[in-house]
Amino acid sequence: MRLIFLGPPGSGKGTQAKLLSQRMGLLHFATGNILREAIDKGTPEGRRANPYMANGQLVPDDLVNDIVRARFRSSDKPTQFVMDGYPRTLTQALSFDEILKEQGLDLNAVIFLKVADEEIVRRNSARWTCMNPACGATYNTAFRPPRQTGRCDVCQQLLFQREDDKAETIRKRLQVFHELHADVLRHYQERNLLAEVPGTGDVEAIYARIGKVLGK
Ligand code: AMP
Repeated sequence: MRLIFLGPPGSGKGTQAKLLSQRMGLLHFATGNILREAIDKGTPEGRRANPYMANGQLVPDDLVNDIVRARFRSSDKPTQFVMDGYPRTLTQALSFDEILKEQGLDLNAVIFLKVADEEIVRRNSARWTCMNPACGATYNTAFRPPRQTGRCDVCQQLLFQREDDKAETIRKRLQVFHELHADVLRHYQERNLLAEVPGTGDVEAIYARIGKVLGK
């Protein structure tokens, strides 16, 4: 199965993509995680991405396209995957089309998780992340709080609020999302790949909706 997950930041696409990858044995390809890891490691890509990410802006298309292309050309290239957070612009979608064509891979579906803006701001500003980079677990104080306030359930480290989870950064990201995503959605709609799924309700209810769309 080869899937793309689209949706505003905080729509729950990361959670759903992760679940789906675990349950269906797909690679969870999350460009946000790859970029954060690059920043933590201080690689050239990380240094270039850092100021954009801290301001809630998208990193330049060529940077993220190069990362994705390199991975799909590598010896352990993904063949069964769920893309989470990529493509985010039409330029990225076109580049990804080329990469997939080059590798002889077809997409099965593009899932768009639909959630209203006010709901996104409410949810995202409630998101807390484990400080331990090896863990990176995320919590939502509104609907998936940690057992102990401010501490990770998995590794007991402190939780912190990512710069890009703060309300002002979220509003900027939503603006960027709306400006750019219309083209991406249209692109996949024209290829009859797009399926819109309401991203509200609990995690399993949303998962079941996605499963139905995928015929599982
Ligand atoms: P995410 O974890 O998907 O919410 O991504 C966090 C941040 O990483 C975004 O706000 C962007 O700055 C950057 N990012 C992740 N994926 C992309 C992408 N496909 N294109 C541009 N920037 C990206």
